Amino acid sequence: MIDSIRIALPNKGRLEQPATELLRQAGFQFERTPRSLTVPVRDAPIELLFVRTKDVAELVADGVAELGVTGVDLTREDGSAVNTVSELGFGRCRLVAAVPDLSPITAIEEFEGLRVATSHPRTVERFFADKGIAITSVPLNGSVEVAPKLGIADAVADLVSSGSTMLINGLRPITTLLESQAILIEPLEAERSATATRVVTMLDAAMAARNRRYVVMNAPKTAIDEIESIIPGIEAPTVVPLTHDDMVAVHSVVESSDVWHLLPRLKEAGASGILVLPIQQVIA
Ligand code: AMP
Repeated sequence: MIDSIRIALPNKGRLEQPATELLRQAGFQFERTPRSLTVPVRDAPIELLFVRTKDVAELVADGVAELGVTGVDLTREDGSAVNTVSELGFGRCRLVAAVPDLSPITAIEEFEGLRVATSHPRTVERFFADKGIAITSVPLNGSVEVAPKLGIADAVADLVSSGSTMLINGLRPITTLLESQAILIEPLEAERSATATRVVTMLDAAMAARNRRYVVMNAPKTAIDEIESIIPGIEAPTVVPLTHDDMVAVHSVVESSDVWHLLPRLKEAGASGILVLPIQQVIA
């Protein structure tokens, strides 16, 4: 019998859209309406459970969902009993300690005695306790960056991606406490079911595809050796004869980050009609 599973996903916020996009890219089809909490996946024994991002880890730890998508920062903050199955590459951010521009503080050791506003009090308290620096955390749910201006904190520890929000708010970063990104999680000690194993394979395949491109080109036979030496494919390229005797089509998979410097070299080597195509899934 095929076991049915639930996957807990953020219902709004920063991780919502990239998480549902990843599932769709992995081949799961579902119709979501704005207020639906549970959504069945078409032709698969899977139910998607859309909940607050903050609740995902707890629901997975409790076994309500067998898999979930959340941020590293959130699992650290609430210490849920979950395992990281895969890093998903989106929702990248850092928890950064910062002080107002005019503060004389330049190093983390000088935080002794400060009030630190943060949405991640447990992570912050642990970080400073490990360093033997006594601080008082000021837990806030949002608007952490304005706490020094309001006089309720001397410093902040806030999530940033580019860091520009901190600069706009007159804050100077001192150090990074934690690096975070979205992750796929499962309960700590549960045995993974056959359905969950398939879901993990499909999501990993979609992730692997994101960093790769399929490159197709025509080339004179005489250029094959040079083209093969240029393309660092995951396997040797496929070479297909064309109706013109002296021409071949070369197909290969390359890292997306390599594309921009490969194309001019392929052209110089004699390739023409070069196509760069996205890949939906890669199963090695
Ligand atoms: P949400 O509150 O639902 O928008 O989700 C917040 C989660 O998104 C955080 O816990 C992080 O894992 C992630 N994230 C990524 N970049 C940022 C950022 N610049 N600020 C806050 N959260 C971020």
